[in-house]
Amino acid sequence: MSADFWFQWGRRRIAYSVTRDERRRLKITVSPLGSVHVVAPHDAAEDEVHERVRRKGGWIAAQIDGFEQYRPRTPPRQYISGETHLLRGVQYRLKVRQNDASRIFLSGDRIILETPHVESNVHKATLLSHFYKLEAHAEFPTRIRAAAQLFASEGIKQPKLMIRPMTKRWGSYTPKGSLVLNQDLIRAPVQCIDYVIVHELAHAFEPHHGPRWRQLMDKTMPDWRERKSKLETSLI
Ligand SMILES: [Zn+2]
Repeated sequence: MSADFWFQWGRRRIAYSVTRDERRRLKITVSPLGSVHVVAPHDAAEDEVHERVRRKGGWIAAQIDGFEQYRPRTPPRQYISGETHLLRGVQYRLKVRQNDASRIFLSGDRIILETPHVESNVHKATLLSHFYKLEAHAEFPTRIRAAAQLFASEGIKQPKLMIRPMTKRWGSYTPKGSLVLNQDLIRAPVQCIDYVIVHELAHAFEPHHGPRWRQLMDKTMPDWRERKSKLETSLI
């Protein structure tokens, strides 16, 4: 499908195509390769369609950049002794031991996992996930307090923190002012954890990844691009 229209967004030119359909609302989709397609209701005025697309420029640009698709790329796990698992970017060796009670803890450069169900991957995965969740709860609040200080000149917005498993994202900032962090982010290097926190806190002031957001990022965390690419390229 050819892209028949375009608009200027910051320094970039965003091309898009439009088709008409029996729908009541305008729908914009961005393909994984970055092409933008708009489906508009039959009765929507031409000008209005283009205006609506332009107003969604920040969102469209973010989809094209794949900004929110910094998804975790965890290799397949077997939960056997010797396998390495990350915590704050550091590799630990897993040691699985049979025991009457289940417990999991750090010992030197090892994560010791004791369980009566050494054959159950589900059981071991659950224990490990619980371990990461506890570590995340121990680490994230302090890091957020430090990161919030960086926004002092913008007027600090202290977010409500929620930590939970997320499959497609490292974090998000809700319109109601909650910072949601993926519990598995605790596996990433601390500098990447801080990047995600600052990235999401910047959304308290600017919801999209447009020039204003980037400006705020450059000011608050000048090396955010390196941290971002480190997070994206490491197997966490
Ligand atoms: Zn974002």
